[in-house]
Amino acid sequence: MATHSSTAQADRESVEYESALQTARRQLARAASLLDIDSNIVERLKYPAKIHEVTVPIERDDGTVEVFTGYRAQHDSVRGPYKGGLRYHPSVTRDECIGLSMWMTWKCAVMDIPFGGAKGGIVVNPKDLSPGERERLTRRFTQEMRDAIGPNRDIPAPDMGTDAQTMAWIMDAYSMQEGETTPGVVTGKPPVIGGSYGREEAPGRSVAIITRLACDYYDMPLSDTSVAVQGFGSVGANAARLLDSWGANVVAVSDVNGAIYDPDGLDVAEIPSHDEEPEAVTRDVEGLLSNDELLELDVDVLIPAAVGNVITETNANAIQADIIVEGANGPTTSGGDAILDEREIPVIPDILANAGGVTVSYFEWLQDINRRAWSLERVNEELASEMETAWDDVRSEVDSRGVTWRDAAYIVALSRIAKAHESRGLWP
Ligand code: NAD
Repeated sequence: MATHSSTAQADRESVEYESALQTARRQLARAASLLDIDSNIVERLKYPAKIHEVTVPIERDDGTVEVFTGYRAQHDSVRGPYKGGLRYHPSVTRDECIGLSMWMTWKCAVMDIPFGGAKGGIVVNPKDLSPGERERLTRRFTQEMRDAIGPNRDIPAPDMGTDAQTMAWIMDAYSMQEGETTPGVVTGKPPVIGGSYGREEAPGRSVAIITRLACDYYDMPLSDTSVAVQGFGSVGANAARLLDSWGANVVAVSDVNGAIYDPDGLDVAEIPSHDEEPEAVTRDVEGLLSNDELLELDVDVLIPAAVGNVITETNANAIQADIIVEGANGPTTSGGDAILDEREIPVIPDILANAGGVTVSYFEWLQDINRRAWSLERVNEELASEMETAWDDVRSEVDSRGVTWRDAAYIVALSRIAKAHESRGLWP
């Protein structure tokens, strides 16, 4: 049983912390340096097109009024309407929204989805609010943002602290003011009002699909492949269960309290996910590993699918996996990435691997504007096909340029965005 994890984590964070905005700008500069694109376009992409900041007053249940701050950063819409999550969290900041909106621009472009990037949030701990207060907060925020959002303008989705119910309230508030039912204003809604089947499990499904494609590429039959997954939530549990059902041997999974490990394989279908029963992975289990130890297991594939900044300069040399597939957003720091590159351990980046979420959001939007629901089978088939196409696009850059998978993904994304800017030009 290891106990070094919290100190190691604190050391890593103090040495290496990079904000979402710094990461987004660094990766833009790096991709631009590998491509022959107009520096004026790169300069434009360093900044968001618009940032909306609003105050959101609500009446609390005790009759007092409290005022919250909300943001929506809209980075780039050259390829289509802005798209991105809306989070309710006390640590939401303007800069974080800008950085995450830039990530969404790259993610949509690498998938060739006709959307640009956005991100928003309200500085609030949703657990401090009653359901009624959360509803009033969401409806008033929607009203304050009404001119900024819309099915052809900017389409929010769930993120930390928000869910399908939050999206249903946004859709209702927006539709009431517009005078017409407008399901396409948000994605991640309940299917009964225009949400898509398969949306919830899509990021984990895409991680599993990309893992299978990566194993094929590196000639590793899935039936001989051992997998460790950090985090057993929406992304980690869905990825682990699909890989298990496709024949891979999932040997370790974790929650926030630690990891369980069995070299003979775990029955992941029987372990409750975070959504089904929070922290059930480790409940009543003796002999847990720490989350840091899970990262260093001798497995074929490692999938960090919990939180960001877990593979760093401090532990990258201890990683024994042959391939890393990023399920979480930003699990590898730039220092960690450089060491893994030197050690020739491929890292398949988040903007490709977990992009199933935004891809099925795009399918949801298509269903909404066409007023025609797709079956779960169709969603899953089309998702697999989109993931395979994006994988091929990125793989061909890896093969032809000899760059890392992350650089290749950013090259694909930035080329598409730059070409669209070139052909549209700068107005006026
Ligand atoms: P979740 O809340 O459903 O599950 C998170 C899991 O990680 C839980 O098992 C939790 O116990 C564990 N965990 C939390 N803190 C941890 C820590 N410090 N160390 C180890 N484990 C920890 O979350 P999720 O929706 O699966 O998201 C996981 C990651 O994937 C996040 O980085 C998120 O931004 C990213 N992501 C999520 C989606 C989505 O739609 N759910 C889409 C793309 C990317």
